[in-house]
Amino acid sequence: MGKAFDIGLDRLTGVGVPESDKPNMSLRTASEGGLYTGQDKGGRPLCEETLGLADSPCATNNGQTFYLETFGCQMNEHDSEKVAGVLLARGYRQVESVDAADVVLYNTCSIREKAAQKVFSRLGEWRPGLESSKLSISSSKFQNRETQDPGSKRGPGAPANNTATGTQPGMDVPQKIIGVLGCVAQQEGQKIFARAPWVSLVCGSASYRKLPELIRELEKGNRRVTGLDTDTDETFETEITRRDNPWRAYLTIIEGCDKACSYCVVPFTRGPERSRTSASILEEVRQLTDAGYTEVQLLGQTVNSYRDPSARKMRFSELLVAVAEVPGIRRVRFTTSHPRDFGKDIVEAIEAVPAICEHVHLPVQSGSTRVLQAMARTYSRDEYLEKVALMHNAKRAISITTDLIVGFPGETEKEFEETLSLLDAVQYDGAFCFKYSPRPNTPSLRMEDVIAEEEKSRRLTVLIEKQREIQRARNERLVGEMFEVLVEGKSKKEHQWSGHTSSNKVMNFTSRREESLGDYVRVKVTGVTPNSLIGGVVEEGLS
Ligand code: SAM
Ligand code: SF4
Repeated sequence: MGKAFDIGLDRLTGVGVPESDKPNMSLRTASEGGLYTGQDKGGRPLCEETLGLADSPCATNNGQTFYLETFGCQMNEHDSEKVAGVLLARGYRQVESVDAADVVLYNTCSIREKAAQKVFSRLGEWRPGLESSKLSISSSKFQNRETQDPGSKRGPGAPANNTATGTQPGMDVPQKIIGVLGCVAQQEGQKIFARAPWVSLVCGSASYRKLPELIRELEKGNRRVTGLDTDTDETFETEITRRDNPWRAYLTIIEGCDKACSYCVVPFTRGPERSRTSASILEEVRQLTDAGYTEVQLLGQTVNSYRDPSARKMRFSELLVAVAEVPGIRRVRFTTSHPRDFGKDIVEAIEAVPAICEHVHLPVQSGSTRVLQAMARTYSRDEYLEKVALMHNAKRAISITTDLIVGFPGETEKEFEETLSLLDAVQYDGAFCFKYSPRPNTPSLRMEDVIAEEEKSRRLTVLIEKQREIQRARNERLVGEMFEVLVEGKSKKEHQWSGHTSSNKVMNFTSRREESLGDYVRVKVTGVTPNSLIGGVVEEGLS
């Protein structure tokens, strides 16, 4: 259940570029499978010591390794970049398999039930006794010993007290650190230890800044540690972020969410809204341009609800302009915008500043005012359409994408049809479509008139089909037009490349030049699919 369909936004999170295609730029090392841009002003690698986060020198960790798997959204992908940055700064090395890792981390998502289930099935792969258990993949990493109390010491020589976690004395316990991070960690907390006693670290996204401290506790011998506060006013600053995408740098500008939509776990798992100061954001953007980035994407669950906590009190639209004015920046993206806080000033900023990309992701969820009220979305259909009209009437052609949920409790056929008619009215360039998934702690869990699974599936299919047709028609109108494209990927097929337009459309195109990665080129559209444009380069290496 809860299968999400991404129509045309498949690359919203950036193109996965093969290691061999990553540029060999100064300040960018492609070792560890990504880009670690952290250096202080004196060129020293950023680590806990140079950042003043620790009183001990930068750890070397004697070649300790970590494996990090990410589930879920772009925010999670970026959180993983931060986690990797922290561990690399402590001297850990990232590896591609759990077998080779001393620390195994799962950065989890619980937005829909299926995503959460996936995490527990991954953790289940470690269950002792299973023939395929990961416990047997590297016996040298484990020793047979009695399970210990949550507060007790870990490792050889530690007292082996029995535990209340449901494990059997004498079972294999991994001598790896196995950690659950992110939304499932925050939602399930200590319960994870009972369900998967081989887990030793549980840490929600609001506590990532404490990760080095938590790992240090485990290294000292503590058996289990948690970081589950959400009432922190700390934002996880990103000085030691390891960047995976060589073309688009993600930056969190606001954490958490105060909106309380009745179906959503995010306010529980990510805590209240906390914005970073504009000065710290702009400083990071400058560091990114120094490292060679020309495109940045500002992130937040409700990015446009940004409130500068410093005396400068920069509005979100002013921040967009300020980021675009940092020398070296050519593209500024932002996601996700909440309709309530989306105003004329943002559209005016896009109109006035070419570097602010002509794309707005504005989730609507439903086309029915009654359903929107039940969802506690804080706007009606008409109010949403007023925001869309601002973009339709803008001087630049702004591409609009959205998120939609079908089968919310009590959604009638007529109300579902209102969602279909909204697609006609808005003409989206892309949509993430979801079946409603009941989530723990959320108000909608107690709502009546639950829609049957088969009916949700039927509505999802109808919705996807309609949106696909709209996209194909919209894309067809672009044949013959020219777009500036940042070249992000190289196909195995000769002379074939891919990248994104400012409107975030994927462009697959032909170019005979040997090396174009990272360049901006002008491409003429010669064909389309519902999800992408096809073209040929007419102008290389734009300055
Ligand atoms: N903050 C963004 C907003 O307000 O639109 C959305 C962030 S949420 C991580 C991404 C999307 O997941 C939502 O827009 C919604 O469509 C979907 N979603 C969230 N909770 C859901 C649920 N319980 N069932 C189905 N889809 C859900
Ligand atoms: Fe969830 Fe609503 Fe917040 Fe978006 S605005 S993260 S859907 S509560």
